[in-house]
Amino acid sequence: MEGQDIVSSTEGAPRDVIPAHLLRGQKALVTGANSGIGRATAVALGRAGADVVVNYVAGGDEAEKVVEEITGFGVRAAAYEADVSDEQQVVAMMDRMVQEFGTIDILVANAGLQRDAPFTEMTLAQWQKVLDVNLTGQFLCAREATKEFLRRGVVPEVSRAAGKIICMSSVHQIIPWAGHVNYASSKGGVQMMMETLAQELAPKKIRVNAIAPGAIRTPINRSAWDTPEALEDLLRLIPYDRVGDPEDIGYAAVGLASDLMDYVVGATLYVDGGMTLFPGFATGG
Ligand code: NAD
Repeated sequence: MEGQDIVSSTEGAPRDVIPAHLLRGQKALVTGANSGIGRATAVALGRAGADVVVNYVAGGDEAEKVVEEITGFGVRAAAYEADVSDEQQVVAMMDRMVQEFGTIDILVANAGLQRDAPFTEMTLAQWQKVLDVNLTGQFLCAREATKEFLRRGVVPEVSRAAGKIICMSSVHQIIPWAGHVNYASSKGGVQMMMETLAQELAPKKIRVNAIAPGAIRTPINRSAWDTPEALEDLLRLIPYDRVGDPEDIGYAAVGLASDLMDYVVGATLYVDGGMTLFPGFATGG
């Protein structure tokens, strides 16, 4: 591999062709939106015309920058501090959103973290923290958003669905990951939570889906791409031969949230450059 330009990809990315009216009038909440994938998703939703609440747990300055970028598209945005793993804080965040924005139409349950360790060295605190944020956090946010979707029901001028939930999962909902048992278990849990909610809520016209990113260039996985050696190793796992950009996920979220995908229910959209295609078998296995 000859350096970073082989994998740089934002060039030519379709940011200017997101139709600015696609999500007009919709109110979106993105958790963990002051960094990485959450940030790019919040910006993409704003570009598509949605008003956006930018949730963060630490790093209010970054969150304010995201708000500023989004309001530049002529939509509303605000930064709300809340720890998604804290029930009271999630309830308060949703109450505030309904009060200040009127309702919620789109939840992107994105906040997540890693606390890696070999299995026998993994502490209960490391296990619990990852489950609390990555799985319980999505449960709490989805539950509170669903209460508001049900209260309001379908408003046909806004969307064919009463609400849309997008769970940020990972290719590790199906690819085992040594040294990351807490993280892989949390994402396996997200898959079954998402599918169960999709089944339970579809009759209420609530669409629940997930995005499973592959390797996306964000702070969570910096060590996997920030040296040429690490990058070369990583690219062996990616048939499409580039590391993903946060915007790749943002565009997928805009599509899934929009009525263009109104019949997509309970699906996981893998956005991974083919990482889940068993690239090791490309040459015969
Ligand atoms: P990131 O570290 O840049 O962003 C994670 C965000 O979640 C941060 O804003 C962080 O502050 C926030 N967060 C952490 N704990 C929180 C809490 N208790 N309450 C509220 N917010 C909290 O990483 P990212 O790569 O952008 O990750 C976003 C999501 O995408 C995560 O769920 C992650 O598991 C998933 N994902 C990332 C990749 C990747 O390659 N980057 C791949 C697959 C899945």
